Amino acid sequence: QCAAVCPTGAIVVRNDTAKLWQEISDKDTKVVVQIAPAVRVGIGKELGLGEGENVMGRIVAALRRMGVDEVFDTSTGADLTVLEEAGEFMFRLESGEKLPLFTSCCPAWVRYAELNHPELMENISTCRSPMQMFAAVLKEQYRHSHRRVVVVAVMPCTAKKQEAAREEFIEDGVRYVDYVISTQELIQMIKEAGIVFAEIEPEAVDMPFGTTSGAGVIFGVTGGVTEAVIRRISDDKSVSSLRAIAFTGVRGLEGVKETSLDFAGREVKIAIVSGLKNAAQLLKKIQKGEKQYDFVEVMACPGGCICGAGQPFIGGEGKWNRSAGLYEADRMSNIKRSEENPVIMALYGGLLKGKVHKLLHVDYRRKG
Ligand code: SF4
Repeated sequence: QCAAVCPTGAIVVRNDTAKLWQEISDKDTKVVVQIAPAVRVGIGKELGLGEGENVMGRIVAALRRMGVDEVFDTSTGADLTVLEEAGEFMFRLESGEKLPLFTSCCPAWVRYAELNHPELMENISTCRSPMQMFAAVLKEQYRHSHRRVVVVAVMPCTAKKQEAAREEFIEDGVRYVDYVISTQELIQMIKEAGIVFAEIEPEAVDMPFGTTSGAGVIFGVTGGVTEAVIRRISDDKSVSSLRAIAFTGVRGLEGVKETSLDFAGREVKIAIVSGLKNAAQLLKKIQKGEKQYDFVEVMACPGGCICGAGQPFIGGEGKWNRSAGLYEADRMSNIKRSEENPVIMALYGGLLKGKVHKLLHVDYRRKG
């Protein structure tokens, strides 16, 4: 079963849809929206389409009808995360320090670790989540815009609202992510706008960030981050290697998965865990020395973001449909690896020059 409540235990969940309508109607404000991978396979059923159907193009079109100025895909941010996290992982493997490396994309997991395992904070990746990386890029891109720019993130998740409000992601009083709208709230807005979602023609996201990789899209399901990172660090860039990686045990909706790979002549051990209860049990085993890993992916929601608390609730087969929808998006993508995304390479050669640490990394330990 998917999570029915916010895994952070958040008591108040902010609904900013009324404020967002105001921002959209303000001609002096440029509203820029990013859409998380899991949203595209979680929204369709409530709007008259199939469960798990990838409706990204329709979401883009609907947001434009609603008056949003520019629409992007958070998968672009995920591609940045893959490169940064893979780099950090390879560095730690070589130095042998602060292993295992725990992923940091899921804010509910990061908060859980801060509250319950402060001793693990130095093992958590310094990478910002894809939402925050992309928001930092967008704010930098429009730094000199003559209009006020607000960045909106459509997320499968209520924990992302808390993440957006963290002091680490506020600079000079301005948040990198101004508003987080959950999938359910976007459904409400589409209905309020009177848009017949099932009949709208799909549209492409905007340039200059209009290209994403399949690796970025599969972040929305448990194991996706790991698979994307393995694609990045693997020396064999052939098509058969891609298929082989998919069958290493990274896929599937089980709460705990294990895999290993050969990297620079050594065996690298990996765990993938979803659901905080499963994470707590695995942490106990790691701390007792019963299990040893080099890399651990943690997602607070069982199954990953496809089952986030901001998505329409599903149980049983539905989550498999959502998972299949993301893997199909990956299959249909002509770019499979994050490092092959030309947008990402252009960012490193331009906007991010000298700013990688400032815009893409975070030190959670100061709050620890
Ligand atoms: Fe949010 Fe995804 Fe974490 Fe669930 S697994 S809390 S949806 S980031």
